[in-house]
Amino acid sequence: MEFFLPISYLNDFVFCPYSIYLHQVFDNNKEDVYSAKPQQRGKSAHSNVDNSKTKNSKKVLSGSYVISKSLGIYGKIDQYFVDERKLVERKFSLTTIYRGYYYQLWAQFIAMEEMGYPVDALYFHSIKNNQRIKIDKPTDKEIEELKNHIRKIARFDFETEIKVNPQKCSHCIYATLCDKTNQDHVYA
Ligand code: SF4
Repeated sequence: MEFFLPISYLNDFVFCPYSIYLHQVFDNNKEDVYSAKPQQRGKSAHSNVDNSKTKNSKKVLSGSYVISKSLGIYGKIDQYFVDERKLVERKFSLTTIYRGYYYQLWAQFIAMEEMGYPVDALYFHSIKNNQRIKIDKPTDKEIEELKNHIRKIARFDFETEIKVNPQKCSHCIYATLCDKTNQDHVYA
């Protein structure tokens, strides 16, 4: 049986592998049990656009599901502008573009092309300051890096010792529920 990972894991794993485990544990809970203000703000901003007239109009695909057989991933894109062939991933506040963000957008890009939607340009969009940042398409080397990252997640043993980074815990939405730390996140 083929095995597919959610695209969201690509960034979560970079942040902290244990957050993927906790996400699975609390998956059946209402999300506001653990989601913090930044995530709620981001989701709200996303859903405002997703529910607008632009959702899956002829001009823009918004929040559509994609899948890549070559990568073994599935998930949602944020926005695809059909005429301009632009793929955009929005974050509520984008001060740093982490490697995990690139992995997510590269995976969306590869999935879109596999599904027959050509992509000419990739962008991150910071909702808070309405800033759009164009990034290059991934090189062959970067695609290999992405594939290695996906393999690492698929083979990761969650029983192995997790390295706890207090700085990350303080910005982790699972901090109040996590058995690896006693600290709370800064959004409480
Ligand atoms: S609280 Fe810390 S150890 Fe626990 S999932 Fe979050 S970042 Fe990882």
